[in-house]
Amino acid sequence: MSILRQRVISLMQSRPGERLCASCVAEQLGVRHKNAHEAMLKLEAHLGFRRGYGRCSACDKTRMVSGVAPDRAPAPTANEVDGR
Ligand SMILES: [Zn+2]
Repeated sequence: MSILRQRVISLMQSRPGERLCASCVAEQLGVRHKNAHEAMLKLEAHLGFRRGYGRCSACDKTRMVSGVAPDRAPAPTANEVDGR
């Protein structure tokens, strides 16, 4: 797993129940929008992650947003972050 993806997971897990758009993830992590968008696309396959059209918790705009489902926190992906 890429370091960027791990950072996106950490960011999402630190804000359970919130949904963030790629622009805000990029801003929070200090990366390009394109890179944040690609990392979030790949996270879609992860258990516990949700992606869909909705309101971003940070910028309040309605667009494609991703986040951890609150009822799944801590997400199973935590094991992958540990490198197991
Ligand atoms: Zn946003």
